[in-house]
Amino acid sequence: MIVPPPNLRIDGARLWQSLMAMAAIGATPKGGVCRLALSDEDRAARDRFVGWCRDAGLAVRVDRLGNIFARRAGRDAALPPVVIGSHLDTQPTGGKFDGAYGVLAAFEVVRTLDDAGIATAAPIEVVVWTNEEGSRFAPACVGSGVYAGAFDADDSLSRADRDGKTLGAELARIGYAGPAPMGGAVGAYVEAHIEQGPILEAEGKTIGIVTGAQGIRWYDVTLEGQAAHAGTTPMDRRRDAIQGAAMLIAAVDAIALEQAPSAVATVGALSVAPNSRNTIAGSVTLTVDLRHPDAPVLAAMDRAFRARAAAIAKARRLDARIVDVWDFPPPEFDRGCVAAVRAAAARAGFSHRDIVSGAGHDACYMARIAPTAMVFVPCADGISHNEIEAATPADLAAGCDVLLGAVLALAGEVRG
Ligand SMILES: [Zn+2]
Repeated sequence: MIVPPPNLRIDGARLWQSLMAMAAIGATPKGGVCRLALSDEDRAARDRFVGWCRDAGLAVRVDRLGNIFARRAGRDAALPPVVIGSHLDTQPTGGKFDGAYGVLAAFEVVRTLDDAGIATAAPIEVVVWTNEEGSRFAPACVGSGVYAGAFDADDSLSRADRDGKTLGAELARIGYAGPAPMGGAVGAYVEAHIEQGPILEAEGKTIGIVTGAQGIRWYDVTLEGQAAHAGTTPMDRRRDAIQGAAMLIAAVDAIALEQAPSAVATVGALSVAPNSRNTIAGSVTLTVDLRHPDAPVLAAMDRAFRARAAAIAKARRLDARIVDVWDFPPPEFDRGCVAAVRAAAARAGFSHRDIVSGAGHDACYMARIAPTAMVFVPCADGISHNEIEAATPADLAAGCDVLLGAVLALAGEVRG
């Protein structure tokens, strides 16, 4: 491994300026950003990014899914690129840093290498993935997911938003349905991101070395009982779907607590029929979301959930129907790539800890096809997907320095 000069640092002020310039596109009155995927604001953000990259002499290409790659040549064109970046789309009431930080930190790494006159053996590509948020078009992380072979390109392009506009048509409308072929070999993928959780801030750590992310299982559960009169039906004759749902909701909570501290479980939506004050509920449908970073534990949570749903249905004389909506196995990041991030943090002298991502990221799909790692930096109160999302210039610069160190190790610095 080639060790870069210890004094090589990114320009934190320039990184902050580019973050603020990007945050002006789709800026909201409360200090956040609304830049939905493939909206006019997304187009403006993409145009600004591409303009900066062209000014920096990078070769820009856009693929069918609208993913943008800005390439800095390496000494050895035969080597697969080290790809770094994230996304520029946001939630409807999003913040300045979720996604944009990973893209602009990657761009700052390239500018720093240019300023220092440092060449790398492998090419470096700064990537902007399409529709990471999944807010306008489902599913989330569609650009990286198609790139990694997790989703079909045509199916993804046919996905429509609430107004019936398809992802493919909107890509063409904003001028980002590109001609470049989809996919390609990647030597390594590293994504910098705000943590979107409270752990780094609470522990006073500057850098999170992301070792992987949580696996996710989604279900729709329907409990069928019998609607009946609330006044005339004795308690022992009821088939009350709401009482069964209440027990199941408590059971879901318990399943996560039994696997503390890493497990989380959520019932986020309920629909009750007939939803009337003086009628016993005949039917309840509820959503269940189970998450854990270890596949065997997540599988045990899945078994516990099914067993308890069946037991509750039996006890309450209900019919339980479980539909599996989504099964996302926990992505494991590459040991060598993670070690490169850890070494870069240690070398730069930043406090750090290993961490598992609670949120999904483009890196989770890239981990399926390339050695992958992530760099986390703290965000205020762990709040994200919110207009008040905040991070300090110093922490953002530190994460970018770590990204720089990791990229030099992975791409191979060339001297002379
Ligand atoms: Zn993000």
